[in-house]
This record gives sequence, structure tokens and C-alpha cells, in this order.
Amino acid sequence: MDLNDTPEQAAYRERVRGWLAEHASEAPRENLPEEEVVPARRAWQRRLAEAGLAAVTWPKEFGGQGLGPIEQVIIGQEFSDAGVPGILDVIGVGMLGPTIMAHGSDEQKSRYLGPMLHADEVWCQLFSEPAAGSDLAAVQARARQQDDGSWRLSGQKVWTTNAQFSAYGLLLARTDADVPKHKGLTMFIVPMDAEGVTIRGLRQISGEAEFNEVFFDDVRLDPDATVGGVGAGWGTALTTLMFERLTIGSGVEGLGYRPERFAEAIASDPHAAHDREVRRRLGEVGSELLSIRFAGYRLLSQLQSGSIPGPEAGLAKITTVAAAIEAADLVTDVLGPDALSEDDQFAYITSFLPGLKSAGGTEEILRNTIGERVLGLPPEPRLDKGIPFSELRAREREAIS
Ligand SMILES: Cc1cc2nc3c(=O)[nH]c(=O)nc-3n(C[C@H](O)[C@H](O)[C@H](O)COP(=O)(O)OP(=O)(O)OC[C@H]3O[C@@H](n4cnc5c(N)ncnc54)[C@H](O)[C@@H]3O)c2cc1C
Repeated sequence: MDLNDTPEQAAYRERVRGWLAEHASEAPRENLPEEEVVPARRAWQRRLAEAGLAAVTWPKEFGGQGLGPIEQVIIGQEFSDAGVPGILDVIGVGMLGPTIMAHGSDEQKSRYLGPMLHADEVWCQLFSEPAAGSDLAAVQARARQQDDGSWRLSGQKVWTTNAQFSAYGLLLARTDADVPKHKGLTMFIVPMDAEGVTIRGLRQISGEAEFNEVFFDDVRLDPDATVGGVGAGWGTALTTLMFERLTIGSGVEGLGYRPERFAEAIASDPHAAHDREVRRRLGEVGSELLSIRFAGYRLLSQLQSGSIPGPEAGLAKITTVAAAIEAADLVTDVLGPDALSEDDQFAYITSFLPGLKSAGGTEEILRNTIGERVLGLPPEPRLDKGIPFSELRAREREAIS
């Protein structure tokens, strides 16, 4: 491995390897029937939690190991080499759990974090809406507080990964439309089996159905369902988005887009392996992927020393996804239709990767952020600054009519 392990990290790697040598056979088999995948992966996450391999960066008081992101990456590398999956609930453990740790009440922490870690309760992120993706602060799902302190929630979310088997969702809703859009938001914990919640699956071109539309029709939420305070939802959401960036950033290793993988596929075709143009394209994309890997290690060192990477971290995501798409295109050009056969890994990569251009911030938005906050370019015009959300909506309606 080229992480250049310290003696402690090398010892940790050995421990992970030792555990895998004994237990990898308990991991879910590949090609399980669709209905068996989630139960098998939940059981596997539970096994990993018991072994202290599920949330190593969580503090010990919440069932984690209090270790750093490098140990997390070591686990990702060793699991990938052993051909076994990691945890099922990456969104919960990687993003929503840390948000609850940062903003939740003590009761919420003790009630929700343990079952999340052990996959007894899987979580989903209920942020995006049909008209609020890049412009997340434009969410329209509306929660109104009742006289008894409880809340009534109505609206629609979309793109909700894993909602179909989640027990809870962390949901961003508008609780005050008469203040500027970033100010009138509140974060809620929503039981997915509550009356008035409807989940509809969306099947992707990759054949999987990970996403959902979720509808909320006058759903009652307990008074203590808010996370981080009424009206403070934007700050809470930013914490989740920061962990999303870190999860995707430190997951770069785990995504497995290594140049060798593409080179091997090409080498299987002796004609292509000697084609100058194919070799040139492979060289270009290979060096891109290698430089991403080393930039990723720099990010990891920053994280390990306790500093939170700034907006430049978005560059890793843009470049990784773009390079992997280019590499998959090259393999598809070489293998032809065979690359899209059902059991071929490249069929999945080719159809799934374009979606990653949007997940965790679209390419254009990340580029804007880097332009403004890293390169100091002039900011995009913000026409909604300081204007109450209800007025914005009225102005939009006026402009349309
Ligand atoms: C694999 C995957 C998993 C996801 N999982 C979840 C989930 O679990 N929970 C959840 O809440 N969401 C989830 N999402 C949604 C994701 O967060 C959104 O796709 C993302 O925020 C972009 O929003 P959008 O799709 O509405 O695109 P839009 O915001 O409508 O953007 C459409 C296009 O316009 C461009 N654009 C928009 N605004 C600007 C601008 N100001 N300047 C320049 N270009 C602009 C965008 O870059 C994009 O190309 C997931 C998405 C994917 C692909």
C-alpha cells in the first residue's frame, strides 16, 4: 500500500487483515437475490460494529473507536483487497450520525446512535426536493408547530437514497417563510413509518433502485423531533454537507478507481493493448487517477491532524468522477458491447458514474465554490439575499405569469 503507514498504522492494518482472514467468509455473497441483499448487509454491518470496524472515527462514548480518517481508509483498502463490502448505512454513519452528535440533544444521541451504528435502524437524508437541489436553502417542505408543541409536516423530497428500508430520516423543512430563505429552516428526525409518509422507488439506468421520492402528507412529529434548534436548520444542514464531502473525499480510495483496474481490462484485449491511441488515453487517465490518489492522501493528512479541509476539497470529487468516467469510456471503447454485459463491472461503472456528477454537489456548483472561495473570483449575483422566502416565491410566480 502506498499510504506510507507509520508503525502504528501498519500494526492497525495487520489487525484488520487478521480479522478479515478469520471473518471475510461471513460477508454477504455477491449476486444475492435482490430481496436478500439488504438483510445480509445489515447483518454484516452489525458484525463489523461488534468488531469495532464500523464507525472507527466516531468517539468511543458513542460506540466508535476514536480513531482518525487514515484508519478508516486502511479499512476501506483492506476490505476492497479482500473483496468484501463495508457498512450498509454509509449515509447514516458517515453523515447523519455525526450531525446528531454535533447538534442533537443528549436524548437523541443516546436513543438513535447505537441502533444506527449496528444497522438495527438505517437512516436516510431527506434534503433534496424537485426545486431544491443545488439551491438547497429553497426547500419548500413545510413544518408548522401546533399548540401542543408537536409539528405537522407536508411536502415532497426526491433522490432519497435508501428511504425504502430506512427507519428514520433527517429532514430539512421550512418552519418560517417570512424570513430570508436560509433563516427559516429547521432540521427534523422523521420516522419513516409515520402515518402520511409515502415512499416511491425510482429505478436507475444501472438497474438498481436506490433512490426514492418521499411524500409527506400532514405527518405528525413529536415536539422533540427537531435537531439543532428551530430556525437553525441551515447551520445543521451545513454540518451534514461537510461530512458528506468528507465521506466522499475519504471514500475516494474505497471507490476503487485505480489505474490498474482499467489497465487490466484493456490488457485482456491483445490488439487494444498494443494500440498507440489506447495506450496514450490510458496513460493520460492513469496519471490523472494517480495524482488524485496522492492529492487524496494530502487531504487525509490534513484530516488526521485535526484540520477540516476547505472548499478546495470539492476538487477531489470533480476530478475523480471525471477521470473515472473517462477511464470507463476508454474500456467501453475497447471492449465494445461486451463491456455492458450484465455481469461486467464496467456496465455498472458506466451507468452509475454520471449520477455521481450530481451527488454531493454538482460539478458546476463545486466549480463555482472553488472559483469564489479558493481563487477569489467575483461571486455569482445573489438576487435572493435578505428577501423573505414567501416574497421570493411570489416574485417567481409573478415572473412566470
Ligand atoms: C447518486 C445520488 C445520490 C443522492 N442521494 C441523495 C440523498 O440521499 N438525499 C438527498 O437529499 N439528495 C440526494 N441526492 C441529490 C443531490 O444532492 C442533488 O442531485 C444535487 O444537490 C443537485 O441537485 P439537482 O439534482 O436538483 O440538480 P439542480 O440543482 O437542478 O441542477 C441541475 C443542473 O443545473 C446546474 N446548476 C444549478 N444551479 C447552478 C448555478 N447557480 N450555476 C451553474 N450551474 C447551476 C447544476 O450544476 C446541474 O448541472 C443524490 C443525488 C445522486 C446523483
